[in-house]
Amino acid sequence: MAEETIFSKIIRKEIPADILYQDELVTAFRDINPRAPSHILIIPNQLIPTVNDIESDDEVALGRLFTVARKLAEQEGIAQDGYRLIVNCNAHGGQEVYHIHMHLLGGKPLGPLLMN
Ligand code: 5GP
Repeated sequence: MAEETIFSKIIRKEIPADILYQDELVTAFRDINPRAPSHILIIPNQLIPTVNDIESDDEVALGRLFTVARKLAEQEGIAQDGYRLIVNCNAHGGQEVYHIHMHLLGGKPLGPLLMN
């Protein structure tokens, strides 16, 4: 069994977070350390630690991450100008929290994908 992270506590509302959307499959909330005017994390409610742990049974929940990203981008008013979706995996990908999450970033030109 994978170890829970702080994100499971956010899903269960045991600790505060600015939750923008929640349904039976996914939860979306604002990143505590925003790197852009809009910085939202969209996560499956079920704990999947990394992209390396994805199974075919997870496809519906993980597909939902995209439809929620699309809706939230519209809600944030960033859909037309554009935005970036990022999923980091493990150490070289820069993953810090081991509960898969999609970053939705926008609200300004984001520059090149890799800074170094
Ligand atoms: P990673 O580097 O794993 O892809 O991204 C983890 C993200 O989670 C970071 O952008 C970080 O700011 C955010 N984060 C970590 N802990 C918390 C928390 O307790 N609440 C919220 N809202 N965001 C968090």
